[in-house]
Amino acid sequence: MSERATAPARLAMLGGTFDPVHLGHLRSAVELREALALDRVHLIPAAMPPLRGEPHIAPEERLALLRLGIGNTPGLVADPRELARDGPSYSADTLASLREEFGAEARLVMALGHDAFLRLAEWHAPERLFALAHVVVIDRPDHEAPLPSALETLIRGREAADAEALMARPAGGLLRLALPTRMAISATAVRDRLAMGQSVRYLLPEAVEARILERGLYRRH
Ligand code: ATP
Repeated sequence: MSERATAPARLAMLGGTFDPVHLGHLRSAVELREALALDRVHLIPAAMPPLRGEPHIAPEERLALLRLGIGNTPGLVADPRELARDGPSYSADTLASLREEFGAEARLVMALGHDAFLRLAEWHAPERLFALAHVVVIDRPDHEAPLPSALETLIRGREAADAEALMARPAGGLLRLALPTRMAISATAVRDRLAMGQSVRYLLPEAVEARILERGLYRRH
């Protein structure tokens, strides 16, 4: 058997609202997979995000756009598991379900942008996140604020020197990654442009843009 066949699975979860998915999410997921030599990146829309207001369109519609956006991109998966659960979508529960599916030896990563990372200490069961997975922070333009002290405490002693050091263990580490292509695209800006009838070309995959325009999503009524 080849070494690769016996090596533990390496996978990441990139959770979010995906309201809607844009090229900042998708390009980050592709580059994250390359940087950590992951088998797969699961993009997982939250049915009900705990720390923000109600999304603008239904979970099933956000998932449909995500599927269109991913298309046949190797190693990216639109994962519907949070849509099957009732109540707030806690990442700790999602990671527990991935851990159960892929086993104790799998290298499991929870990836998030620097803006989301800044609020990590406020999440449900933050210590449990590290028991289940590594946390990998993706640099994002315009989001460079210093860390709050509760977050400094949460991450103390967890920082790994590089990807290989992180992947030597199944969970519990922290890595900050500056991926090659940093994109200043946000779903908020995309929604605002759509509401004002402005172009969103090249901010989203064409198939995602086409479905949004066809269905009149995010238009101001
Ligand atoms: P909104 O503007 O509605 O807050 P968003 O563009 O930040 O949305 P989310 O669905 O909230 O998108 O993001 C999901 C995850 O992807 C978060 O961890 C977020 O930090 C990260 N992310 C979003 N956009 C980018 C980007 N352009 N570059 C890197 N990471 C990103």
